[in-house]
Amino acid sequence: TARLADSDSELASSLARELHRQQDQIELIASENIVSSAVLEAQGSVLTNKYAEGYPGRRYYGGCEFVDVAEQLAIDRAKALFGCSYANVQPHSGAQANQAVFMALLQPGDTILGMSLAAGGHLTHGASVNQSGKWFNAVQYGVRRDDARIDYGQVRDLAREHRPKLIVAGGSAYPRVIDFAAFRAIADEVGAYLMVDMAHYAGLIAGGVYPNPVPHAHVTTTTTHKTLRGPRGGMVLSNDADLGKKINSAVFPGLQGGPLMHVIAAKAVSFGEALRPDFRSYARSVVDNARALASRLVEGGVDIVSGGTDSHIVLVDLRPKGLTGKAAEASLERAGMTCNKNGIPFDPEKPMVTSGVRLGTPAATTRGFGTAEFTQVGEMITQVLDGLAAAGGSGDNAAVEAQVREKVQALCARFPIYSGVPLAAAA
Ligand code: PLP
Repeated sequence: TARLADSDSELASSLARELHRQQDQIELIASENIVSSAVLEAQGSVLTNKYAEGYPGRRYYGGCEFVDVAEQLAIDRAKALFGCSYANVQPHSGAQANQAVFMALLQPGDTILGMSLAAGGHLTHGASVNQSGKWFNAVQYGVRRDDARIDYGQVRDLAREHRPKLIVAGGSAYPRVIDFAAFRAIADEVGAYLMVDMAHYAGLIAGGVYPNPVPHAHVTTTTTHKTLRGPRGGMVLSNDADLGKKINSAVFPGLQGGPLMHVIAAKAVSFGEALRPDFRSYARSVVDNARALASRLVEGGVDIVSGGTDSHIVLVDLRPKGLTGKAAEASLERAGMTCNKNGIPFDPEKPMVTSGVRLGTPAATTRGFGTAEFTQVGEMITQVLDGLAAAGGSGDNAAVEAQVREKVQALCARFPIYSGVPLAAAA
């Protein structure tokens, strides 16, 4: 059988170039990470050939005895990681995990209460453009204007007024600890289910540096590819066996057909890695590094939304420098640091422009960066932003970008990734 580089050089070259992009730039997108070679190997395995509709031991296809082992390992390790009695590891993505919970517990037209996208929530928590906002009566809570924290008083008032059937806690750009017990108290008061979407925090929770929502929520959903450092995918957890049955039926046959067994195998590998003691130090470093980055950025003259971070997320308010998120993202990218523009709470700019960038430490921490390196990253970001401001906010910043790009490359060379993976040979 021919190697990819020989059988399809066009595609192989795009993979090789993406590998080099990941090796040579500093990944600061908060929702991304760098999986181990073992995770890549499991995902790139023959398990992709296998149909396995159903669940371990109860399949609609023959020949499932070995993929059953892989899925059961993923389930058992997920339960051990998060302390729960039920796990469904089949959702193809975080969005589909959330959809499965809605399908299991709601009818179209029911009321849900979630955090607005503008305040840091996710599309699937009731945004008007998403199915969760189109098929349900979605009410949205936000954060306080003065400190950018969730306003639990507002959540309670909205819950009392609208009597949602389900409340969603969790978000994509909320850097602080969420009080899951407070959410559960509000849910109990109005007879609602509490669903926590811990997608962003899952690895920090597994590593013991962020509170575990599982004891408080009726159902917890997550992606597996962010701080948890697994393959791209989703998962649903619970401690309620009856809810578990409903969720199993919602995932399959409700929403999905055959599970992606190669991805499930890779989930099992990553959960095994997260159960090891060194994952706890990884999680601790992710947060320490985010704090070091935030404080260097503040010294450089930007604001940090909520004044700091309890997690891997640093949400930068660029207004003190008169910059937009759009211009900053583009200039930082040219300088070798990848991030995404992101609305800040009460953002005066449009969503495609924004006044902020969202930064995250999970990926670069995986490649070995500590607080010294993240302090240097904060310094380099400041140089790029200052150059951009001096160029009028969107003018030519090429000289500064080129200077910083060299420093970025030197830093990346000191912390190499995927030096031994076969793909490198295709380059
Ligand atoms: N939930 C939250 C909180 C997220 O941040 C994301 C990812 O952006 C998702 C769900 C959706 O995950 P996916 O992109 O795998 O569908």
